[in-house]
Amino acid sequence: MKLVSTRESAPLSSFKQAVSRGMAPDGGLYMPVRVPQLKPDFWSGLREQSIPAIAEALFNELIGDEFEEGYFGELAREAFNFDAPVVPLDDRTGVLELFHGPTLAFKDFGARFMARVMPLCKVSTNGEPLTVLTATSGDTGAAVAQGFYKVDGVRAFILYPKGKVSPLQERQFATLGHNITAVEVDGTFDDCQRIVKEVFAQDNLNKRFNLTSANSINIARLIPQMVYYVAAWAELTRDDIYRKLTFIVPSGNFGNVTAGVMAAHMGMPNVQYVTATNANDVVPEFLEGNAYTPRPSVATISNAMDVGSPSNFERLEALYGGNHAALRNFLKGDRVSDARTREVIREVYEQFNYAACPHTATGIEVWNRFKSLQRYESDYGVVLATAHPAKFIEVMEQELPGAVAIPERLAILRDKELKSIPIAAAADELIALL
Ligand SMILES: *Cc1c(COP(=O)(O)O)cnc(C)c1O
Repeated sequence: MKLVSTRESAPLSSFKQAVSRGMAPDGGLYMPVRVPQLKPDFWSGLREQSIPAIAEALFNELIGDEFEEGYFGELAREAFNFDAPVVPLDDRTGVLELFHGPTLAFKDFGARFMARVMPLCKVSTNGEPLTVLTATSGDTGAAVAQGFYKVDGVRAFILYPKGKVSPLQERQFATLGHNITAVEVDGTFDDCQRIVKEVFAQDNLNKRFNLTSANSINIARLIPQMVYYVAAWAELTRDDIYRKLTFIVPSGNFGNVTAGVMAAHMGMPNVQYVTATNANDVVPEFLEGNAYTPRPSVATISNAMDVGSPSNFERLEALYGGNHAALRNFLKGDRVSDARTREVIREVYEQFNYAACPHTATGIEVWNRFKSLQRYESDYGVVLATAHPAKFIEVMEQELPGAVAIPERLAILRDKELKSIPIAAAADELIALL
């Protein structure tokens, strides 16, 4: 697959080059020059397949030419060794649970794939290990740290703002040790991001430490996110091959929904997409016909979607060749307030005995608003459950006291010792750690 920058002034790249670079040299994001069209046979052949087998088939079609035969089979069995079930709520709605991976959020799909391909894309030129730098405000740090944990030839530094991630989130990446270093920055998330960028900008450090980044703009996090859309489609159309699906995607940086829209462009039949946001609604506002107006984010109870300037919007535009009317015609969206999100958490539990995390609840609400519109009335709605409710136990306890048990995987973290290294908000302090 050849990739091009969304800003179109960087040279074409291979997949491996694009992964190694992260962002294109012109500041754009990498996208396929041409999204490949897969034939009806390809799609119908997936109906009896497992998640790893579907992943293998997709990766081989897209990027198989750059890897040894059989590589993606092994990768997919290792990386996607957990389930992604569709749990039915009513006869028009199912919840696609993407939180059965090690860090209990959908980011495990992207991070576990990326951790495995990265050493094959970014090659050390001096025999020293690769050094992955990542700034996080919560879920990304956990998925990246667990993804790279004990991966040979890679060390990862996770920078996070002191006191601004939840205690359980912090323990997911700051108790691991080995090749994972958690760096507690005395500052904000923006400081963490600035420090990472400043270190990257120093060419000598870049070369000496083989620096790379695992943030969500990397194409290696986008491609694996197609897998669960395709797997859900394959499962839900097994007995009814013409069944129409609408995926409802709780969105912040819009990487998740971009992967889904890409699968549709590759020929996955009879699917539509609707995005759900919290008060950070610059994309729904655009989709309703207004100008695209990024602005500073506001804090909400669905904090993983608190993004005011979603970087993947550029990719959505690129998929439509910059044709806004076409993008608005295909993709719809709506926003949900915190007050309504809290009500929905209670209503869904009362009606279906289902505990939805605040992000997932925005999706359920948006589907309830859209499902009787003519365009969707013959569709089955698949709401993506992006995280396990226990990750947001403080909110869940307020709305549904005692209802959400903390899974073993999170509970064991509570007593673990934090191993983070405190630094001031200055690049020099990080460089000293490298
Ligand atoms: C990251 C995240 C989102 C937003 O996903 P995007 O790809 O950034 O749109 C939604 N929910 C949860 C729980 C997340 O961790």
